[in-house]
Amino acid sequence: MAGTMSRAATGDAPWQTHTVFNQAPPLENVDVFSTNLPLVEAVEREGAGSVRERASALGRLIGETNGVGGSPLEWGRLANENKPTLRTHDRYGHRIDEVEFHPAWHQLMRLGVEHELHSLPWTSEDPSAHTARAAMYMTAMQAEAGFACPITMTFAVVPALRAQPELAAEWEPLLTATTYDPSSIPAAEKGSAIAGMAMTEKQGGSDVRANTTVARALNGGGGGAEYEIVGHKWFCSAPMSDMFLVLAQTDEGLSCFLLPRILPDGSRNAFHIQRLKDKLGNHSNASSEVEFHGAWARMVGEPGRGVPTIIEMVGHTRLDCVIGAAAGMRSGVVSATHHAAHRNAFGKLLIDQPLMRNVLADLCLESEATTALAMRLARAYDEAHADVERGEQDSDAQLFKRLATAVGKFWTCKRAPNHAFESLECLGGAGYVEESGMPRLYREAPLASIWEGSGNVMSLDVLRALTRSPRSLEVFFDELGQAQGADARLDARVQRLKEQFSDPGTLEQRARRVVESMALCLQGSLLVRSAPAAVADAFCAARLGAEGGLEYGTLPAGVDFEGIIARSRVPV
Ligand SMILES: Cc1cc2nc3c(=O)[nH]c(=O)nc-3n(C[C@H](O)[C@H](O)[C@H](O)COP(=O)(O)OP(=O)(O)OC[C@H]3O[C@@H](n4cnc5c(N)ncnc54)[C@H](O)[C@@H]3O)c2cc1C
Repeated sequence: MAGTMSRAATGDAPWQTHTVFNQAPPLENVDVFSTNLPLVEAVEREGAGSVRERASALGRLIGETNGVGGSPLEWGRLANENKPTLRTHDRYGHRIDEVEFHPAWHQLMRLGVEHELHSLPWTSEDPSAHTARAAMYMTAMQAEAGFACPITMTFAVVPALRAQPELAAEWEPLLTATTYDPSSIPAAEKGSAIAGMAMTEKQGGSDVRANTTVARALNGGGGGAEYEIVGHKWFCSAPMSDMFLVLAQTDEGLSCFLLPRILPDGSRNAFHIQRLKDKLGNHSNASSEVEFHGAWARMVGEPGRGVPTIIEMVGHTRLDCVIGAAAGMRSGVVSATHHAAHRNAFGKLLIDQPLMRNVLADLCLESEATTALAMRLARAYDEAHADVERGEQDSDAQLFKRLATAVGKFWTCKRAPNHAFESLECLGGAGYVEESGMPRLYREAPLASIWEGSGNVMSLDVLRALTRSPRSLEVFFDELGQAQGADARLDARVQRLKEQFSDPGTLEQRARRVVESMALCLQGSLLVRSAPAAVADAFCAARLGAEGGLEYGTLPAGVDFEGIIARSRVPV
């Protein structure tokens, strides 16, 4: 095997300097779904086993390395290396506000739309459509994360739009269509649409009530009526979308609006892109600053109810942040374990070095715990959706979904950047070099924690959910209770978690600590109930008991390192 050969053993002439050995072979043509055992099992467990074949076909497409017309992994690289550029005006001085993308970006967008990553739960009769979509979304995101932003926003806008039935009737068929058309013509003419959102302003992103953008009614006002919008937005991602949900002030307070980029007569709306953000990562995707100079829009929902209306969209984008964190960790684990399985140092493959085994097993453990949480959360969306259809309010599933989304988004997005960093380090110096793909993974990792509610905001959101519906804490503990008696360390941690709520006066200061404990108990409860004993035992020892350290690679001796790694490795 090349990894264990010396240069002399390769038979090369003595003056030959460029002999490649002790390098991992390329990971080619992998079924990214079927080789992800923790995901395959979670999907089955959460009731979406019927998606298996479809997800596997997508998994093969995502992992393909020699496809005709390029491959998604290659499109991801190209779309990142060739950042989008803004063209504000044409040669004659007319505003055009166009963003130009590398063709690879459009290939990725087409893939996402054709595989219904933006629409499945809204078009399918399958009661497990959210879970099925989550599995496919997680699979696709391993090719590239940037295009997931507009795919997610298009998915998430639908439930918010339903607050205004005539707008939903007009736009939902376009938003759920499975054709992708990036041209700048009215969405109705193309028969499909991509959605964005614009809430954040310079003076306040988390605190959107500080928005200064104003909306003036053109004829009467109210839900569905026409308005003219004047103001600015500090962040507006995917600015080439066909429509945006926008927050703006009215006499009744902050309200939600549907703002098309191209007007029904084919002219451009007064939606002016000031510049594109020069971002840490997420380079394939465009994020912009925009100004509305009397842009035409229609109100969604009731006047003054902008936040409750758009929060339906935000909830679904937060779900995707959790699934995205799972996808990023999975990519890290695959690269790290593959490299270590083929790289020799100090006389042994890295994967057989005891300390590297600890690091790899710990990374696999985190990835599996995040995957389990993401898929359980997706099932909560299926169940809550069914309850809404039945006309139920505040059902257990709805309360669990609300609380667990905030808990999950806080924790999994916080764990992702360091996970990406440790995965990168497993490749040594090569991991720091762009062509390994690891720097891209690392740069992308902090983003999901910032947008759609930063860490503190998510922690406070957990407290808000508990204040609004105190019963949601009971529902949450009922979920944890399903594992009661299976592991003493989990039982003890759940007991301590209950005690953390006993002093409401200091809860806000302690919110991160409390939410962290909630997330760990939820992950522990899921793994104890469903994962192999090796995984559940290591999680309880290191994350719930007192035997783990602060860094990855600090699992206690006695853990089944090999068993944990074997579950998560792509066996090549
Ligand atoms: C790449 C990228 C793309 C984006 N795309 C979009 C988009 O398409 N549309 C859109 O509307 N927005 C978008 N955003 C904006 C994003 O949602 C906001 O940046 C985010 O919500 C935080 O708002 P802010 O930047 O104003 O920070 P601030 O609200 O000023 O927050 C700063 C810090 O203070 C903390 N904080 C806030 N309130 C409290 C409190 N009460 N107690 C304790 N701590 C607090 C926050 O957690 C944060 O760490 C994007 C951001 C990025 C980075």
